[in-house]
Amino acid sequence: MYRSGIGYDAHRFAEGRPLVLGGVEIPHSQGLLAHSDGDVAIHALCDALLGASGQGDIGRHFPDNDPEFHRVDSRILLREVVSRIHGLNMTVVNVDLTIVAQRPKLAPHIRVMRERLAEDLQVDEGRVNVKATTTEGMGFAGRGEGISSYAVAMLRYLE
Ligand code: MG
Repeated sequence: MYRSGIGYDAHRFAEGRPLVLGGVEIPHSQGLLAHSDGDVAIHALCDALLGASGQGDIGRHFPDNDPEFHRVDSRILLREVVSRIHGLNMTVVNVDLTIVAQRPKLAPHIRVMRERLAEDLQVDEGRVNVKATTTEGMGFAGRGEGISSYAVAMLRYLE
């Protein structure tokens, strides 16, 4: 039996923070404001995985007022979500992410994002797809106020 889930997240830009997307630190003049490292792509992915496994959302598992998660590397959260999925006797079939950002250019970083996400998901890279798009200048992403991300995940129950 298969189960699908969807995730969405958005964070605003702030000065003096690193920009981390898909587990990769990307050179940029600003980073994303958040209690964690602000990795909006991993947050959307965690929500897709939690949704597919019927476990609510990222805020329920990792509250943003919990000091334990202050500036936490979001890959740690992703690995924890994967471990909970395995605990339910489920495995990841595939995931697909879209990062919405006017800048910086993300294309040079997609390959490493896939590698890192596949490692955390414990699947082959062929099961992890990462895309990036602009909004042609429209909306908050287009104005460079922040970055958003969508994710879908497919899980399968192990026999
Ligand atoms: Mg978030």
